Amino acid sequence: MTEHFDYIAIGGGSGGIASANRAASHGQKCAIIEAKYLGGTCVNVGCVPKKAMWFAGQIADAFKYAPDYGLDVQMPALNWSKLVESREAYISRIHASYDRVLAKNGVTVIRGFARFVDQNTVEVDGKLYSAGHITIATGGRPVRPEIPGAELGIDSDGFFALQSQPKRVAVVGAGYIAVEIAGVMQALGSETHLLVRKDKPLRSFDSMLSDTLVELMAKEGPKLHPHTEVSSVSKNADGSLTVQLSTGGSLSVDCLIWAIGREPANDKLQLEKAGVKLDSQGYIPTDEYQNTNVPGIYAVGDNTGRLALTPVAVAAGRRLSERLFNNKPDSKLDYHTVPTVVFSHPPIGTVGLSEDEARQQFGDSEVKVYRSEFAAMYTALTQHRQLTRMKLVCAGPTEKVVGLHVIGFGADEMLQGFGVAIKMGATKADFDNCVAIHPTSAEEFVTMR
Ligand code: FAD
Ligand code: NDP
Repeated sequence: MTEHFDYIAIGGGSGGIASANRAASHGQKCAIIEAKYLGGTCVNVGCVPKKAMWFAGQIADAFKYAPDYGLDVQMPALNWSKLVESREAYISRIHASYDRVLAKNGVTVIRGFARFVDQNTVEVDGKLYSAGHITIATGGRPVRPEIPGAELGIDSDGFFALQSQPKRVAVVGAGYIAVEIAGVMQALGSETHLLVRKDKPLRSFDSMLSDTLVELMAKEGPKLHPHTEVSSVSKNADGSLTVQLSTGGSLSVDCLIWAIGREPANDKLQLEKAGVKLDSQGYIPTDEYQNTNVPGIYAVGDNTGRLALTPVAVAAGRRLSERLFNNKPDSKLDYHTVPTVVFSHPPIGTVGLSEDEARQQFGDSEVKVYRSEFAAMYTALTQHRQLTRMKLVCAGPTEKVVGLHVIGFGADEMLQGFGVAIKMGATKADFDNCVAIHPTSAEEFVTMR
């Protein structure tokens, strides 16, 4: 017996849930197939637990500033178990809320791993499910290097499974995850090393952001090891790890965390039975409407090789359902000018083109850049003054704002509104026309000269 649905989403993560809920709201009989936990990467081993850890780091940071505000307190010992308990309880409440919303919308949740049988049918634990429309939203997973002892390290999934605080940590990688985890561990008091194989982390970001992060790391940690790769890892009798470095030296740590990228989870789906093609890196190529090469099969989220961000997967999934089930044939996600935040210490906010990209795209003479640099007021009263830097990248005779970049206290909550302005095509004059909110860091964006 094959159970038939109008719409099936394979993967109950950000993209799958959003898309199925939206399809159900338009009267479709929907199912989500999830192999592990509802909420996928973001809720279980991504954005949510990461942000909880980042907030813990922010609170720990506050103890640094407190004495100069007249609060004579020392940072107390961290109860890691309590932190993990609170974080996981919060995640359980999100699970419960997903269960409630999916039930209310009449979406069937099928637990298990889905594999294609043919273009319209998938198999889960021996049962068959068919649908006229199937979306593949299977996300990704962390990768590890092929070096001796690599298995002695953990990845970001393992980081969220840690039951005690490692006192000495080496984080390997140069992207969002490496920077975020290293920042959290440093803030929570672990001796933290960040190992990058090139000159600095976040190389693809505007150089003001990555250079400032390097500058701040030199002052506040974690200890950055540029041009450093790991050649091997071995375990010592006391359980610690010796990490041999390409530079000839070694590090003794309690925990090694690989954060060198992620790969798509498309390989075990038996896509060949449905005829769905993969690219050379294992991603599912999709057109601008999330169509794969097979009619009736779509893909959204991290497994498509586009921007790997939760709101991107959510937006792509919802727009797909609007197109398929709400008579909106033009509904699709515009992947340009998507704002994003790196939860580093301090956070980074960025939207649009870097200065280099703008110069390449428009030519030097067409690009005007405005900058600002100051100590965040929150820290300026204290002995631990912390730099904030901002940049507006403008193009053409109207000085359209094509890039906005900030690193500094509060950047994470600053960016969303500016994202709206940039999406609407705001010019420098529009920014200047907006009266500043004082005293804030964000006001610098509307007062730059
Ligand atoms: P996922 O959320 O990964 O969901 C895929 C789901 O499919 C999983 O639950 C998986 O179990 C399931 N699955 C896979 N194969 C099958 C199968 N064959 N059958 C059934 N189920 C299957 N993004 C942000 O925007 N902000 C952040 O702060 C942020 N922080 C992050 C921190 C970390 C440490 C990580 C790893 C990622 C972070 N991200 C963040 C990225 C974000 O988590 C992803 O972009 C997002 O989860 C992608 O959603 P998705 O639907 O494509 O896949
Ligand atoms: P990224 O792809 O962002 O970064 C990984 C980096 O590690 C590479 O860019 C590379 O940088 C470096 N690297 C690659 N291979 C090796 C190697 N063998 N040895 C050492 N370094 C290596 O991956 P992440 O895993 O950090 O994150 C995946 C995605 O998840 C992000 O791109 C982002 O889209 C999303 N995410 C979003 C977050 C947010 O919104 N705040 C937070 C976390 C993740 P280089 O070439 O410079 O060495």
